[in-house]
Amino acid sequence: MTQDNYESIKVGIIEKCRLLEKMGYFVGTWGNISVRVPEGFIVTPSRVQYDAIQASDFVVVSMDGNLVAGHRLPSSEAEIHRAVLNKKSSVGAIIHSHSPYATAVSCLHRPIPPFVEDLAQIIGGQINCTRYVPAGQHKRIAEEVANTIGEENAVLLANHGVMCCGRDLDEAFVASQILEKAALMMLAAGAIGPVIPILDEFVSSERHRFLYKYGTPHDAP
Ligand SMILES: [Zn+2]
Repeated sequence: MTQDNYESIKVGIIEKCRLLEKMGYFVGTWGNISVRVPEGFIVTPSRVQYDAIQASDFVVVSMDGNLVAGHRLPSSEAEIHRAVLNKKSSVGAIIHSHSPYATAVSCLHRPIPPFVEDLAQIIGGQINCTRYVPAGQHKRIAEEVANTIGEENAVLLANHGVMCCGRDLDEAFVASQILEKAALMMLAAGAIGPVIPILDEFVSSERHRFLYKYGTPHDAP
């Protein structure tokens, strides 16, 4: 463990957990967050209410799955975080939530195509859905999630919820909001007909613009 115990990262995670609970994305202790650190990743502990959680409750898990620091048990879903962090080196933080609209789409076992621009920019492609794995089989869910997620920054867990990634926690938080909004829009538009995806070439160019040009003078009009 480093000198500062990652206090500021843990405080940032607590803020996001409480916000996500207020937003209805986390209910009770269902929902968890990880942030990559040099030793592995910090992850929310199992069965601690977010209104009572403290920085000292967090645990650090190594990339090969060993508990490195902390006196509590890691979230039961830490394996899923580990699998995604191991697969995607660009990811610095992950939010796993059971946000209602995205979870509703996960119950259809259907992907969410990149049909709105913010989805193309922040998520970067179609969000695929895993096959169903019964709750409690965390290693199998982790394998399924790692096999399903690609370059895009999110994945639906069938009949369960969603994982959203970002280069940092703020980006994973925005990805969670963008995905939930897209799921709501897909379900609303679905009353009239299937949504029309944006062409692949424009999804790629929007993603590239967001990653490398957004907010810089190179983002020319
Ligand atoms: Zn879950």
